[in-house]
Amino acid sequence: MNTTRSIAAVRTSVAKWRHARLSIGFVPTMGALHAGHMALIYRSKQTCDRTVVSVFVNPAQFGPKEDFSKYPRTWASDRDLCEDAGVDLIFAPTALAMYPDGFATSIKVGRAGELWEGVARPGHFDGVATVVAKLLNIVAPDTAIFGQKDLQQTVVIKRMVNDLNLPVRIAVAPTVREPGGLAMSSRNAYLDMLSRIHAQSIYSSLKWAEKQVRSGVTGVARLTKAMTGQIEAGKRFRVDYIGFCEPGSLEKTNAAKPPLAILIAAKCLVKGPAYGRRYIDNLIIR
Ligand code: AMP
Repeated sequence: MNTTRSIAAVRTSVAKWRHARLSIGFVPTMGALHAGHMALIYRSKQTCDRTVVSVFVNPAQFGPKEDFSKYPRTWASDRDLCEDAGVDLIFAPTALAMYPDGFATSIKVGRAGELWEGVARPGHFDGVATVVAKLLNIVAPDTAIFGQKDLQQTVVIKRMVNDLNLPVRIAVAPTVREPGGLAMSSRNAYLDMLSRIHAQSIYSSLKWAEKQVRSGVTGVARLTKAMTGQIEAGKRFRVDYIGFCEPGSLEKTNAAKPPLAILIAAKCLVKGPAYGRRYIDNLIIR
């Protein structure tokens, strides 16, 4: 496995593989790799001849009140996991290489980036789209793989790839969960044991709603109220939003009928390292 900080070195490796007619899969990450990331890497390994992983904590997607400097950085473990998984190349650029002095261009993603997470995190998806566009231009993969865990991110990226005619296939891999159902995330480590158990209500409320919808319940207000009650019962999380929406656009629907995406963000209220952090999850009902 090769590891590089250099944009030119990535281009040279990829050009060699292209010349040999090998297909290239790409998994963009911010590091702190866990089983969710590894599933994306595994998907790339299954479907492409070569796999490139980027590890870059992107300053442009952090808001002024979000702590970019405290984002977990676990380089040695990330590298070992990638090595074990058979990754061919890790691209870990510096912020200066990605955003040199005078950098001024950015991608504005429009409505898909303004809904749901975009309300709480203004500009976040512009930052995501800009760095993903740059990474896609540098790596030039056949396929880039993203996790359903961040459903809105996949909608934004697909929109951008369509709108800008980027020559890449976007694949979405299912959310990997802890045994109790909590979606894996680097921020789960901040939860104390009891909060981690209470956080399971985020996913269990989604599964409960799925059951209701499949049995013919369509009332969004009623479902939202019941789900909020389930998540807030332990007084450890407060619901930020529960969205019933159309899976392709994430626009709100009036009736909870498939095809349907249900999105949740809940904030941790427990004093300590998880305080104020937002935990997101989603489920698609086809
Ligand atoms: P991040 O490092 O958090 O920016 O995530 C990098 C990629 O991993 C994104 O496409 C995420 O959606 C994906 N990802 C993060 N957590 C999970 C998970 N639990 N299951 C599947 N994919 C995930």
